[in-house]
Amino acid sequence: MIVIKSQEEIELMSQAGAITAQILEDLYKVIEPGISTKDIDEFVEENILNNNMIPAFKGYNGFPASTCVSINQEVVHGIPTKKRILRKGDIVSVDVGTIYKGYYSDAARTYPVGEVDESAQKLIRTTMECFYKGLEFCRPGYRLSDVSHAIQKHAEENGFSVVRDFVGHGIGTSMHEAPQVPNYGVPGRGPRLVPGMALAIEPMVNEGTYQVEVLEDNWTVVTKDGKRSAHYENTVVITESEPMLLTV
Ligand code: MG
Repeated sequence: MIVIKSQEEIELMSQAGAITAQILEDLYKVIEPGISTKDIDEFVEENILNNNMIPAFKGYNGFPASTCVSINQEVVHGIPTKKRILRKGDIVSVDVGTIYKGYYSDAARTYPVGEVDESAQKLIRTTMECFYKGLEFCRPGYRLSDVSHAIQKHAEENGFSVVRDFVGHGIGTSMHEAPQVPNYGVPGRGPRLVPGMALAIEPMVNEGTYQVEVLEDNWTVVTKDGKRSAHYENTVVITESEPMLLTV
């Protein structure tokens, strides 16, 4: 069942989202060669707690950290550790979730570590553009798969592929609510979008094959061919007109 949010609920989600957005913005200054993925996690967790919010990922199905930090061929759900040091030329995806008074926000960015090659720049840029292509259909009158289709089309037009095994989701009083939001599919299918729906839309775009696998830690998702992957996510609310972006 898709839960339609009231104005009051959207307000609480947007307070959570504002902190998530600020932290993701601040990370552009924090991320540099030589820091560990755990350093990123500590920075994010401290900022979430300082704002009197709860890190949504910590303890979620046993996940041990406040952020998912995924380098290069890692797609999502990388576990922060002191042992993983960022090197110049890497790309790193950071996924952050916050809870305020029981309401969730969820967003992700992919950052270049120092100077990165042209293909990495294009991958990061295209993944963000995919989100905004999907956002154009986040209005009443469209169906959910219109969003999915727009994301897939833009990724593939740019020579990339979209991950199938992991998808976006509804969000509200829990991190994952109905509906699932795939980043691929034919248009014109699925539920009609109506005001008050809150969706975490999160293209995961790969340089090579769309196929992925999960490592032995049971969390880290990597591309099957070892090529790089980027992730871009925001929490979005459907309104009567322009969609609201809660995490930008
Ligand atoms: Mg998400």
